[in-house]
Formats: sequence, structure tokens, C-alpha cells
Amino acid sequence: MRLVLVGPPGAGKGTQAEFIAAHLAVPKISTGDIFRANVSQGTPLGVEARRYMDAGQLVPDEVTINMVRERLAEPDATDGFLLDGFPRTVPQANALDKLLADFGTALDLVMELVVDDDEVIRRLSGRRTCRGCGKIWHVEFDPTSREGICDRCGGQLFQRDDDKAETIAKRLEEYAEKTSPLVDYYGAQNKLVGIDATGPVEDVTVRAIDALR
Ligand code: ADP
Ligand code: ADP
Ligand code: ADP
Repeated sequence: MRLVLVGPPGAGKGTQAEFIAAHLAVPKISTGDIFRANVSQGTPLGVEARRYMDAGQLVPDEVTINMVRERLAEPDATDGFLLDGFPRTVPQANALDKLLADFGTALDLVMELVVDDDEVIRRLSGRRTCRGCGKIWHVEFDPTSREGICDRCGGQLFQRDDDKAETIAKRLEEYAEKTSPLVDYYGAQNKLVGIDATGPVEDVTVRAIDALR
């Protein structure tokens, strides 16, 4: 299956992507994770992306599309994938459609995680990520993560640089302006399914898996 997850920052895309990708046995491709890996390795791509990420802005389409084109050409993505955080603009969605058409395939489904702004801000403000295994935690909702230690692998937890109040506000603006039009874009292709992403993580996973068709 070729699946895209959309939703505002903090909706739970990364959290759910891990479970859904395992359920479907497809690779999870997160453009945010690829950018962050490049930032920490200090690659030219990372140096460029960081300027935008730190400001809460989207990385330019051309840079992002080229990166995704390379990633989708890797053999593990041939039979299916779950894209987390891409596309995020209409030009990116157009480029993805075209890229897949060149491969003779197309997206099967786009899942929108629906959560209101207040909940998104609460989720982003308390987000912590494991340096070891990448597992996503929350200081309020996952009490063990208050100690700063990953409950799965024992690694150190960190707070993302862009999860600060000012940057969060800018990212939500970027979402409203540039990403939310994708709901209509994929709605018009009859590929969109929206799910309620509130409530416990496991309940959202059940809704997400039920919505796969
Ligand atoms: P979140 O999970 O909070 O939505 P991500 O980890 O997906 O955040 O993305 C972090 C940052 O990486 C974004 O704010 C943006 O700067 C950059 N980024 C990730 N994906 C894209 C994309 N598809 N287009 C442009 N920029 C992106
Ligand atoms: P450079 O410009 O120095 O060659 P790149 O931009 O190619 O650096 O990125 C270097 C590293 O970033 C890669 O070794 C890989 O870990 C990661 N990376 C870059 N592009 C991708 C991609 N499309 N998919 C997954 N990882 C990528
Ligand atoms: P996104 O990738 O959409 O930005 P994440 O998956 O990183 O979102 O989740 C953002 C924060 O919200 C994390 O701290 C995560 O632990 C937490 N979170 C995710 N899903 C839920 C949920 N259903 N209930 C409460 N907190 C959640």
C-alpha cells in the first residue's frame, strides 16, 4: 500500500506512522526525520534545511522533492510506503503524483489526522524524542519519560529545537496556509480519509487501521 499521513504538527503522525507501517510491512518515510539526520550529520542538505526548520518554516519544495525522489527510488519502497510529513504543499503533491505516475503507480490513500489547535500545542510542548531509537514520548502523557530516559531502549530523551512556543506558532501558520489545501486536493481525487486523532494512542491506531482499505 502507498499511504500518506497528513495533519498539523503534533497531530501524532510520527507516533501512528510507526504502528501503521509495521502493520502494513512497508517502510516509514519521514521527511522531518531525514532532515534532522542531515542536520545532525552536518551535510550540505542539513545546513540548508536547518535555516528553515529553526524558523518554523517549510524547507523549499525543490530541495524536499529531490530528497523524496531519491528515497522513493530505493528498493525497499518499490512495493509500498508510508509517507509521514510529505507532501506538505500542493506543488509537492503534484510532484509526488507525477513521480509515481512515472513509476506506473499511484497513491492508494491519504489519511488526515484530525486534532484541534489546543491539543496540538499541548502535544508539541511536551514532546520528547529518544536519541537512541527515535521513539516519540510526551512528558505529561508518558510519565516514565519525565526522567529523560527512554522506556523502550534506555536512551536519552531530548526536546526538539523547533518545539518552542514561537516556532510552534509559526509552524501552525505554515500548516494552515500551505498544507491544509491538500485536504481539498486529495478529497478531489477521492483518496482522502479523515480520522479522529484525539484520545489514547492505541485508540487512534485502531481507527487508523480500520480506515485502511
Ligand atoms: P512535525 O512532526 O512536528 O510536523 P516534522 O518532523 O515533520 O514536524 O518536520 C520538521 C520540520 O522539517 C518542518 O517544520 C519543516 O521545516 C521540515 N519539513 C519536514 N517535512 C517537510 C516537507 N515535506 N516540506 C518542507 N519542509 C519539511
Ligand atoms: P551530501 O550532499 O554531503 O552528499 P546528502 O544530502 O546526500 O549529503 O545526505 C547525506 C546523508 O543524508 C545520506 O548518507 C543519508 O544518511 C541522508 N540522506 C540524504 N538523502 C536521503 C534520502 N533521500 N533518503 C534517506 N536518507 C537520505
Ligand atoms: P507529529 O509527527 O504529527 O508532529 P508526534 O507523533 O510527534 O506528532 O506527536 C506529538 C506529541 O504528542 C508527542 O509527544 C507524542 O508522544 C504525543 N502524542 C501522540 N499521539 C498522542 C495521543 N493520541 N494522545 C496524547 N499524546 C499523543
